[in-house]
Amino acid sequence: MLTKKLPPVQSVLFLVSRRASQLSRQRYDVIVVGGGHAGTEAAAAAARVGAETLLVTQKIQTIGALSCNPSLGGVGKGHLVREVDALDGLCGRAGDWAGINFSVLNRSKGPAVWGLRAQLDRQRYREFIQAELLSTPRLKVLEGSVEELLVSDPNPAEPGHHRVTGIRLANGSQPISASSVVLTTGTFLSGSLFVGRTSSPGGRIGDAPSSSGLTQTLRDQLGLRVGRLRTGTPPRLLKDSVDLSLAKLHPPDRQPTPFSFTNTQTRCKPEEQLPCYLTYTTPGVERVVRESLHLNCHIQQDAKGPRYCPSIESRVLRFPGRSHQVWLEPEGLTSDLLYPQGLSMTMPPDVQLRLIREIPPLHRAEIHTPGYGVQYDYVCPTQLSPALQVKNTQGLFLAGQINGTTGYEEAAAQGLWAGVNAARRALSQPPAALSRTESYIGVLVDDLVSRGVTEPYRMFTSRAEFRTSLRPDNADLRLTMKGFELGCVSAVRHHEAVRVRCSLQNAIAALQALTMSSTSWRKKLPGISMSENKSQTLSGMDLLEYKDVSFEILASVFPECLSPYMEFSQRLKIEAVYKPHNDQNRSEIKRIQSEENMSLPQDIDYFTLPVSLSQEVREILDRFRPTTLGAATRLQGMTPAAIANLFNYVHFTR
Ligand code: FAD
Repeated sequence: MLTKKLPPVQSVLFLVSRRASQLSRQRYDVIVVGGGHAGTEAAAAAARVGAETLLVTQKIQTIGALSCNPSLGGVGKGHLVREVDALDGLCGRAGDWAGINFSVLNRSKGPAVWGLRAQLDRQRYREFIQAELLSTPRLKVLEGSVEELLVSDPNPAEPGHHRVTGIRLANGSQPISASSVVLTTGTFLSGSLFVGRTSSPGGRIGDAPSSSGLTQTLRDQLGLRVGRLRTGTPPRLLKDSVDLSLAKLHPPDRQPTPFSFTNTQTRCKPEEQLPCYLTYTTPGVERVVRESLHLNCHIQQDAKGPRYCPSIESRVLRFPGRSHQVWLEPEGLTSDLLYPQGLSMTMPPDVQLRLIREIPPLHRAEIHTPGYGVQYDYVCPTQLSPALQVKNTQGLFLAGQINGTTGYEEAAAQGLWAGVNAARRALSQPPAALSRTESYIGVLVDDLVSRGVTEPYRMFTSRAEFRTSLRPDNADLRLTMKGFELGCVSAVRHHEAVRVRCSLQNAIAALQALTMSSTSWRKKLPGISMSENKSQTLSGMDLLEYKDVSFEILASVFPECLSPYMEFSQRLKIEAVYKPHNDQNRSEIKRIQSEENMSLPQDIDYFTLPVSLSQEVREILDRFRPTTLGAATRLQGMTPAAIANLFNYVHFTR
């Protein structure tokens, strides 16, 4: 992959760009609306599953655009990228193609929470995604703005339940019908852009918002609850105007670690990587923020912003008197711009310039594009099923920022999952399920549909109860075989995952068969400190748990049985380190999986259910209508007694 030549973007655009009148069909299995991170994964996944798919997006040239930070991954987010890749999605391979600075975050902690992150070249990322979509069979791309969703009238037998039948474009062309529609309109739903005291309609700088018709269908026709959130982006700086000698150099990892299981190396050679720089805000920054609050209407609005990626205004107001980190990051291999991460701001452009010049390396900096804020509608995601389908509208799936999340990785993960399920529905297959015990994607989807959001949701490793088993290193073992069964993973990738799984199983069996007393081990490995209990019997797998025992050391002592597995030395070490913990977790995981598998009938009237439940619990159950007992367990306000009563009711009476 890394040696392949991508077609130049212009030819990609020419080839994929079609007018509605030139489409070969007016009916598709799946239509995906929006070509951002959710939409591209959704469209590619639906097509891989076997659905005739149409991706409709406002501007083909912005497919794969990184609206804000040119980076991918991080702690928790890197896990999502590995999982999307294990399901044959695009973003991991695109990251390997476009990365120009790779580092593994959290290295001082255990490998279960390592966060693979890369700074990206924007242009390369877009080129890769566009070229991938072009070469995906069964996928067509259409430039256009979707004006309206076509929805059938509710069935009298199922009042309030609709069915999506297709879309209508803003240009007045013929409607296009589909069995499933995936909406991935990001920050574009009733989007408004803010700089200083001015606001204008828009989904992103240079892009119009989604038409009001779309919001009307969702809100008025389908009766969906909609909330409002906000986010923002920093000004882009001219690199030549920044004095990087006054900032602290942060080199990337010497050896880049690829995101994708299919790659052993990244396109960017280790020595070609570009560094990042770290600097800090000064009291002058806080002064400018405070002096200009009256000129800044974005910050005064009620809509909630991203807590973990706040604007400089929010940081200064929440933590007065502190100095805040600012990362100066490259925007591309040949780009003459720098991205100042941590300086998202929405004051007027002249004030932005004054503010950045209060930071020593930026004392003469010039702004290429001012920072701005965006406010947008999101659909409260508790109205979705775990397949990301709107509960009251068959065939309508939502994914990405429209569900109240923030970040490319969260969007990509939902997009892939919605695309798989939209295709399965169109092909008359049952919805696919992904538990929170087996993946971060399962955690993300479950959090959204069972708990909802009150602020932009981003992934953290702390959200996963079983993070010692949901590791970035084993995402292929957890998901690739399943993805193959669902139809979204190619035979080639599946074949490789099966080979890896067999080899790891054989290697673990070989290690476990190497059993002897700790005294004998001490003789074989004199330099290693181990249990003082001389009669204790230890296997090679037990030994590998010790900090200073590597697989290489064991293989040098037992080359005949272990050297065939040298390529897996790091994975085996990680397996051994987490084995005791995961053995302990196994029964808990089984219990949760059986709860997950217990469906709660959707026609239950919780207010009249003849079981002992408090009025408060009844109201919670009625409001969120969890689809499984597992989802009910995680609702805030549920009690163990209520869960036990619900279990008994479903188990014995249904
Ligand atoms: P998007 O990537 O926004 O894609 C939506 C797509 O839908 C676009 O291609 C658009 O053209 C298309 N579209 C919209 N309406 C229609 C229509 N009616 N018809 C056809 N096509 C349509 N994330 C962070 O993690 N940290 C940040 O600090 C951060 N800051 C951000 C700042 C700004 C200003 C913006 C705009 C976004 C920011 N994000 C940030 C969010 C990040 O960009 C998104 O989380 C991510 O891009 C969401 O992906 P998505 O696919 O849901 O939507």
